[in-house]
Amino acid sequence: MRTLPSVTNVLDEYIRLPSAQRRDILERVFSLWSPKRMKCPHCLENFHESPTLVKWAVEGQETAAAPDADGRWTVWYCTCPSCQRLVMKLQNYVGSDLRGEFLIRPKAPARSPLAPEVPEAFAADYREACLVLADSAKASAALSRRCLQNVLREHFKVKSGSLSDEIDQVLPNLPTDLADAVDAIRNYGNFAAHPMKSTNSVQSICS
Ligand SMILES: [Zn+2]
Repeated sequence: MRTLPSVTNVLDEYIRLPSAQRRDILERVFSLWSPKRMKCPHCLENFHESPTLVKWAVEGQETAAAPDADGRWTVWYCTCPSCQRLVMKLQNYVGSDLRGEFLIRPKAPARSPLAPEVPEAFAADYREACLVLADSAKASAALSRRCLQNVLREHFKVKSGSLSDEIDQVLPNLPTDLADAVDAIRNYGNFAAHPMKSTNSVQSICS
């Protein structure tokens, strides 16, 4: 009959392991003990994640953290119980500090779905602005700006001008919460100083 190793033996063995392997074991234990609540980036449902760390082979040793000049990199994944889709993240640690976290799958979190009555021309810009947000906030802002200006001109039929002027024209006709949101966009983007000349080109807000 197989006897269980004593705690002392286990600890002795653990201490003799290479440091990368020891860290690896600790990371796995802590990730199992502290499942976090997360919102699925696919379906936006909340669930308690039980992540699995991806193993790397670094110089012949298996580890969950691949080192480079910018720190250690780990990849973990879990499956959302609601939509059954894989969520995969890349994390960057320097020491024990989490310095960065990047979604691999999906590439960007989903947004609330648009109502089917939203015309495709507006919906396409909205979807693209959401998709590129993780890679370039500026590109996303430029697309969002074009989307808003198209809505103002094509749907509200405002008189063409700077985006700030066009927003002024619709504010009195909007419900308060929507008016506040649209007004905030103008304040954030300082659009008055950067009028958009064409609705057909994606103009950087920083130009
Ligand atoms: Zn999901």
